[in-house]
Amino acid sequence: TVSSGDPDVHASRSAQLFERADLVIPGGVNSPVRAFHSVGGTPRFIREASGYTLTDVDGNDYVDLICSWGPMILGHAHPAVVEAVQKAAATGLSFGAPTEGEIELAEEIVGRVAPVEKVRLVNSGTEATMSAVRLARGFTGRTKVLKFSGCYHGHVDALLADAGSGLATFGLPTSPGVTGAQAEDTIVVPYNDLDAVAQAFAANEGAIACVITEAAAGNMGAVAPQPGFNEGLRKLTSDNGALLIMDEVMTGFRVSSAGWYGLDGVAGDLYTFGKVMSGGLPAAAFGGRADVMAHLAPAGPVYQAGTLSGNPVAVAAGLASLRAADQGVYDALERNSATLRTLLSDALTAESVPHRVQTAGTMLSVFFSEDPVTNYAEAKAAQTWRFPAFFHGLLSRGVYPPPSAFEAWFVSAAMDDRAFSIIADALPHAAKAAAA
Ligand code: PLP
Repeated sequence: TVSSGDPDVHASRSAQLFERADLVIPGGVNSPVRAFHSVGGTPRFIREASGYTLTDVDGNDYVDLICSWGPMILGHAHPAVVEAVQKAAATGLSFGAPTEGEIELAEEIVGRVAPVEKVRLVNSGTEATMSAVRLARGFTGRTKVLKFSGCYHGHVDALLADAGSGLATFGLPTSPGVTGAQAEDTIVVPYNDLDAVAQAFAANEGAIACVITEAAAGNMGAVAPQPGFNEGLRKLTSDNGALLIMDEVMTGFRVSSAGWYGLDGVAGDLYTFGKVMSGGLPAAAFGGRADVMAHLAPAGPVYQAGTLSGNPVAVAAGLASLRAADQGVYDALERNSATLRTLLSDALTAESVPHRVQTAGTMLSVFFSEDPVTNYAEAKAAQTWRFPAFFHGLLSRGVYPPPSAFEAWFVSAAMDDRAFSIIADALPHAAKAAAA
């Protein structure tokens, strides 16, 4: 049986749809975290959205603090984006031949992120990281990939690996269906631990093709790189002949107009983007050094392709979003993130709930922990049992945070005083629930 998670809230139509969905869609959803497994209750089926407001099929409104897991920095149904999509759709949905818009989007990305000289468009962040890793292997002629525990780079087989015991270990598959061989070429070390990276390079001399890292981690909750960490990765990869892949699928074009690179200026060899750059439609990209990208088909031997890559409607949405994201938008994201952080912290402090509201640029997360969280082990050691009550305390009062303790919260530039007054009214109740 399904329940709303809070008897106050009318979610009967969502509950009916969830039961119906479960008959034809595994778990009733098309991406696992949408199912509310870690918080319990009924996932809300969304009917429509505008600005910062999500409206579900029962007519409940929510201030959206997920923003489609990152893309919607402008808020939902932004007029310039909707108009661009409608215009593109009216002139043909897909051609399987090049278009001028693809050049414009590539130019927009190359113009914003200096280390990116060439860029290839794909359909999802997963495709971007998968292709970037293949290119790094093809370019270096090496097989191993180093990643960090708690960093998520999409559901690429080789990147669905977690560490065994010990500091630097060969990956173990974290999902059935990922073979031992696929995970074995992945080395997993703790985030923010340069010694572990150095040790892995020493133990695998000449074998590591690339280090892939979230430019700032968002998938264990918001955990920024400690000062010097990204710089240290730059140096260790360069010294050891490996490429540095900066995964900016989440941070790209959100935390600044040039993504995390705009904040710390550490140049990767390759970059991956998604989310914001597609304005909410399926498009993503990988790019970087021209000499590395020259190895990609058809210019070079490393194969990569896509029927719908550079889709004209997705490109139009992405271009319109990036062009609308002027300094005013980034200033608003900063302001809104800071306001949310203060409201969260004040409400939890008032109820004496141990907490840290951590930020990585304008992304933030609530950790129920006395101490700062710098890696995944520390994130897991927090009092995550408080999260479901906190989540439902907010949801039942019209605020929709991510339904997991290990996710970043996302603000949009569309949020206004009314949005924050809804959040401020909901928070005391949620903080009390978290304290219980
Ligand atoms: N990389 C990072 C840092 C992400 O946050 C995500 C998705 O959340 C991905 C890659 C995968 O992107 P997608 O879900 O579009 O495949």
